[in-house]
Amino acid sequence: MSDRSNSVIITFYKYTRIENPEEFQPVLLNFCLQEEIKGKIYLAFEGINGSVSGDHKKIELFKSYIQSFPFIGEVIFKEDPVFGICHEKMFVRVRKELVNSGARDIDLSLGGKRLSPEGLLKLYEEGKEFVIIDTRNWYESKIGHFKNAVIPPIENFRDWPEYVDQIDDLKDKTVVTYCTGGIRCEKASAVMVEKGFKDVYQLDGGIVSYLHKFPDTFWEGGMFVFDNRRVVEVNTKEELKHVATCHYCNKPTSKYINCHNLKCDKIFVCCEDCRKTHDYSCSEECKTALSRRSRYYD
Ligand SMILES: [Zn+2]
Ligand SMILES: [Zn+2]
Repeated sequence: MSDRSNSVIITFYKYTRIENPEEFQPVLLNFCLQEEIKGKIYLAFEGINGSVSGDHKKIELFKSYIQSFPFIGEVIFKEDPVFGICHEKMFVRVRKELVNSGARDIDLSLGGKRLSPEGLLKLYEEGKEFVIIDTRNWYESKIGHFKNAVIPPIENFRDWPEYVDQIDDLKDKTVVTYCTGGIRCEKASAVMVEKGFKDVYQLDGGIVSYLHKFPDTFWEGGMFVFDNRRVVEVNTKEELKHVATCHYCNKPTSKYINCHNLKCDKIFVCCEDCRKTHDYSCSEECKTALSRRSRYYD
């Protein structure tokens, strides 16, 4: 095992034309395997999106490497130190779309106006009238969201266009969209503009960029991430740490687990104590199920 104390995780995306993602896939994968970088990268004709972790020096190499391809060019990386293993494996996959928006032909140039983290902070501080909408899936927003955010009941981003049709009473309002790193909002906000919303913004760099600058302000709870960490606790003020409560004891917590009954696999909020008491299960029935996860994880 390599020493992980010097490890970092980076997330990144870029909408850019990649003529031959199938050809690029093994090239990128081999580089990562060689450099002992782990994580997941998605490629599509429309660009690249990824989250990888590894030794700090190797990650620096990775950054220069992918930016050396002219069809990618300059990329903005969001970086955090990590203690522990964020990714078990390395894979690079080719997809039709980077994020499945249910609106494949959406014109990204229609995307909402970019709002900086400072800009959002100012809207809150000055008490401006605006609607802020979480464009992530319900289980992401449940564990943490911006103050007063609208939380759509969507299971998957592909349901977004349908959801937008249900909120057309907000068409004339100032609307701010946000997601984890910004990738979904480029499409989400474009869908809204296309459907006639008049004053749409997208939070530039997403929640991650905002929280790097302004933790303990207008974000409430934890931040859901798609790696082993699951939820990152981002605030230090006790009253801003958790917005969700344990499925069993109702204690405020930001811990998520998937039910260990493999046939159930439901994601649910569960505190450290209750996950042990209830044997990592969402119900009594699941506790005694035959096919269960063989390995425990946090
Ligand atoms: Zn509990
Ligand atoms: Zn269950």
